[in-house]
Amino acid sequence: MKSKVLLIYTGGTIGMMQDASSGQLKPFDFKHLTNQIPELNKFDIDLSAVSFEKPIDSSDMQPVIWMELVKTIEQNYNKVDGFVILHGSDTMSFTASALSFMLENVNKPVILTGSQLPIGTIRTDGKENLITAIEIAGAKEKGKSIISEVCIYFEYKLYRGNRTHKYNAEHFNAFQSANYPILAEAGVYIKYNYSALKKATLKKLKTHINLNPNIAILKLFPGITPDVVNAILGIENGKAVILETFGSGNASTQKWFVDAIKKAIDSGIIILNVTQCNAGAVVQGKYATSSELKKFGVISGNDMTTEAAVTKLMFLLAVSKSKKETEKLLQTDLRGEMSL
Ligand code: ASP
Repeated sequence: MKSKVLLIYTGGTIGMMQDASSGQLKPFDFKHLTNQIPELNKFDIDLSAVSFEKPIDSSDMQPVIWMELVKTIEQNYNKVDGFVILHGSDTMSFTASALSFMLENVNKPVILTGSQLPIGTIRTDGKENLITAIEIAGAKEKGKSIISEVCIYFEYKLYRGNRTHKYNAEHFNAFQSANYPILAEAGVYIKYNYSALKKATLKKLKTHINLNPNIAILKLFPGITPDVVNAILGIENGKAVILETFGSGNASTQKWFVDAIKKAIDSGIIILNVTQCNAGAVVQGKYATSSELKKFGVISGNDMTTEAAVTKLMFLLAVSKSKKETEKLLQTDLRGEMSL
């Protein structure tokens, strides 16, 4: 039996065309994509496609669009074997992370891909990305999908979605998963890294539609002023702040800074510590410069990416019954987003 794969086109460079008058890249009609890749018709996979009515540049991505994506996946979940989401690379790691939390017990491949060059250009990276992503979404062994999680496929590599970060704005190899191994590599063969794959579950898919976006990121830098720190920690309706710290979770020990953090925590704000580094983890208490944070109740984000931290917080703030539960689950590995 042929595998069935649903292609969901959200926008991004992969489906963009150059506007004849302004020369700017603008999202184009989805038909353009299938015209550009006639190979899609030759696949031994039963391919169907849906497109956003108005494709977007992924910089316009919003939680409500993640909700739409989750609904589309839920509606088609029992009809297909896997999904390929065409998405701009700019916020692809955020979407992949969000979907990983919103699709609890997902047992089928949900593969996001896109490209750095539009599909219509001669040197496009879009064709390979799309074709291999479809192949992975349809790949089965003993009648079961090989992949049962939300992933990003880009430039010959398959990554766990909530471990990725777009680190290069120009290279075809645009993504990194510094704290988790690659799930598969495509060469002549697609080689799966079986020990790194999420195990399939017998539990039923449970979708989470609600997200709470009342969060902020406070990225530290030497010289940051009390005005900036207090403004972010004091945002009206703010529920949580991601503190992007130095190295292994370190921050200034200046009194005004430590007091501001303590005051925010006392007022009920959750503070989650993630590192500004691309790789490695937060270890609060390793240096004196993070001991104070730990003492006041700043939560360690361990080796989570900022993208995973943002979407995990939005998810937990919407689903948890209490602040205590949110704090506990933040430190729990829910979808393979952190190493414990
Ligand atoms: N700006 C584009 C987007 O993220 C870039 C890309 O598609 O890679 O939608």
